[in-house]
Amino acid sequence: MEYVSTRGSAPALDFEGATLAGLASDGGLYVPREWPRFTEAEIAGLAGLPYAELAARIMQPFVGDSLTPERLRELTAKAYARFAHKAVTPLKQLDEQQWLLELFHGPTLAFKDVALQLLGLLFEEFLSRGGDPLTIVGATSGDTGSAAIDAVAGRARVDIFMLHPKGRVSDVQRRQMTTVLSPNVHNIAIEGSSFDDAQAIVKRMFGDTAMTGRFAIGAVNSINWARLMAQVVYYFAAALQLGAPHRKVAFAVPTGNFGDVFAGYVAAQMGLPIERLIVATNVNDILHRALSTGDYSAGTVTPTAAPSMDIQVSSNFERLLFDVGGRDGKALAAQMTGFEATRAMQLTNAQREGAARLFTSARADPDQMAQAIRWAFDASGELLDPHTAIGLHAARTAGIDPAVPVVTLATAHPAKFRDAVERATGHRPILPARLGDLFEREERLVDLPGDYDAIAAYVAAHAVPRG
Ligand SMILES: *Cc1c(COP(=O)(O)O)cnc(C)c1O
Repeated sequence: MEYVSTRGSAPALDFEGATLAGLASDGGLYVPREWPRFTEAEIAGLAGLPYAELAARIMQPFVGDSLTPERLRELTAKAYARFAHKAVTPLKQLDEQQWLLELFHGPTLAFKDVALQLLGLLFEEFLSRGGDPLTIVGATSGDTGSAAIDAVAGRARVDIFMLHPKGRVSDVQRRQMTTVLSPNVHNIAIEGSSFDDAQAIVKRMFGDTAMTGRFAIGAVNSINWARLMAQVVYYFAAALQLGAPHRKVAFAVPTGNFGDVFAGYVAAQMGLPIERLIVATNVNDILHRALSTGDYSAGTVTPTAAPSMDIQVSSNFERLLFDVGGRDGKALAAQMTGFEATRAMQLTNAQREGAARLFTSARADPDQMAQAIRWAFDASGELLDPHTAIGLHAARTAGIDPAVPVVTLATAHPAKFRDAVERATGHRPILPARLGDLFEREERLVDLPGDYDAIAAYVAAHAVPRG
């Protein structure tokens, strides 16, 4: 399988190259040249497979010749053996129509583990073949950082530099990052910044030839294609359990960077019968505005109880605009350059209509989020984290045909956001035993100003150069 950039001028890469590359050299994101498609009979034949086996089958067409089918199967088995639930992503019923897909049974309690546990193994595999040591630079609003650090800590030939906005991640999230003391892990708290500022610094580094010439800079954010590929699997897993391919299923997805919900779009392109993808946002609602009115314009970020959705610029939206807008890299490059200059753009008619065929959106304010937590607790005794609650609010208000099951992606364990859950329900979720003595462990991190040059200098001083 070949990967091309959404901005049309970077070289095409194979799966190995796309996994190690991060952002394309023209500033775009890598996408497969075409979508692999399963027939209805092939999809029916996937029902009942163990998760790791299903994962290998779904991913094989994307991986192409970069891994043999046997090796891919070994890596998925190893990645998903670390999950605390045998089903890896178990499905729970809330009422006649509403379901929860629990994606938080990995080591760091958020759905990011599903992709990053595999990505860590892919890095190790590809780096063992020679080439330059890898310098991963990432930005996190909390969950990507802990999941990525867990996935690469102590691995050979890779360093990870993780930027988080100081004081804007929960105490559990921060400690999950900063208590990992492996020498290849570098935590950086950016003073006075939001996630978008941290992400902008990372993107600038990918385009800084002084840095990319000296260091092989890789990505763990969802700009990395391999992450999205791994997330396609659980859409299949859930839909197969609910009767696909003979029955349609809708999904409600708490959305920030548009990675998770874009994986659902990929599943639909591969032939999975998806009724609707419901994009759920909090008050940071650029995606809701873009999908409902065509106006993609960034405001300022309002901090909320769902920090992984406190985002104004959603990287992966570019992948959707590319695909539904006719895959015209030159035109999209011009559109995105305009957006980067003015922080505003209008979707084209083709982009609006293409998105509207599959996507719906909804926005939840803090009261609606808290009500959804209480509703789920009353209906079924489940405690939801704030992100999942926003997804459930969207699921219940999107007007989906009552005959169609609606699956909300439960993106984080409630214990990761204990204070918000306790405020809504009066119940304080218990941290799972697998986190152990998180609150007793030593922390290590540096504080840096939100200034590109200071951060680039820090990375350059601590990373291993090419060659
Ligand atoms: C990352 C994250 C999201 C947003 O996912 P995107 O792929 O960025 O849209 C939602 N909820 C939680 C808990 C997350 O960690």
